[in-house]
Amino acid sequence: MSRQPSAAARPGGGARTGGDDPSLLDPSRALRGSARPLAEWTSRPRILVTNDDGVESSGLLALARAMRALGDVWVIAPETNQSTVGHMKTLMRPLRIRERRLADGSPAWAIDGSPTDAVSAALLGFFGHGFDLVASGINHGNNLGDDVTYSGTVSAAMEATISGCPGLAVSQTLDGPVDWTLAEIAARVVARNILERGLDAGELLNVNVPALAPEACGGFEIARLGRRIYHDALIERTDPRGVPYYWIGGPPPAGVAAPGTDVHAVQAGLISVTPIHLDLTARAILRRLRDWELVMPGAAD
Ligand code: MN
Repeated sequence: MSRQPSAAARPGGGARTGGDDPSLLDPSRALRGSARPLAEWTSRPRILVTNDDGVESSGLLALARAMRALGDVWVIAPETNQSTVGHMKTLMRPLRIRERRLADGSPAWAIDGSPTDAVSAALLGFFGHGFDLVASGINHGNNLGDDVTYSGTVSAAMEATISGCPGLAVSQTLDGPVDWTLAEIAARVVARNILERGLDAGELLNVNVPALAPEACGGFEIARLGRRIYHDALIERTDPRGVPYYWIGGPPPAGVAAPGTDVHAVQAGLISVTPIHLDLTARAILRRLRDWELVMPGAAD
């Protein structure tokens, strides 16, 4: 059964074993090898939009709006704010998915789980078909450098990549009243390039946008991940019953603005485009490890 963008709730069904049924997971046409100019696509791209700020975030609607210019859009997002949950996947309890409306009246689905759960559900057949692109955001706050290891926004794109679908994460600097205009433009430009040129397996793009009007922005910069400097503290307080509790928090993180990094690009008023690969192997240490004494205790010399 298929959920069109305007479809009503599907009655409860049986198992959606998308992993066993290739027809539910039609391969993404935005994988390199299949990608081509949009004018040559025989049907409109299918784009899944999600986020980690929750289904009510105005950034989600902004991203959906940006993607509708490129293809047909389905929206499924956490029902509550799931920022910094990272790549959490819910396996030990059931998930509920409810139909919602975005502020412009368009349909969306809310899942009582993480961003990864949202992408998982969609790519395992919740909508009855696969997707050509998963776009995540627009996150309220940048995801630069080390942030990507905490970010639910980026993790949603990673989940897409793991499932063989190109992923894009878009985040914008938090600075005063929110205007998503520049981020919408950036998302559309990068998404079009993904659809037309393709990503390889394991690759995703992390885009960070400064809080600027389009005319004040210096354009795109291809950048590597930078280094974040966090100012978190462990705050101890006492609850109404006299029991101590702890809260990790602090002012917004700073960063090392080394040229060539995403931190530097956004500080300079540019839109950073950072390619991320899910092969996290530390290649520099591979050879060094051969000199370590990795032998079982008691093994004969
Ligand atoms: Mn967030």
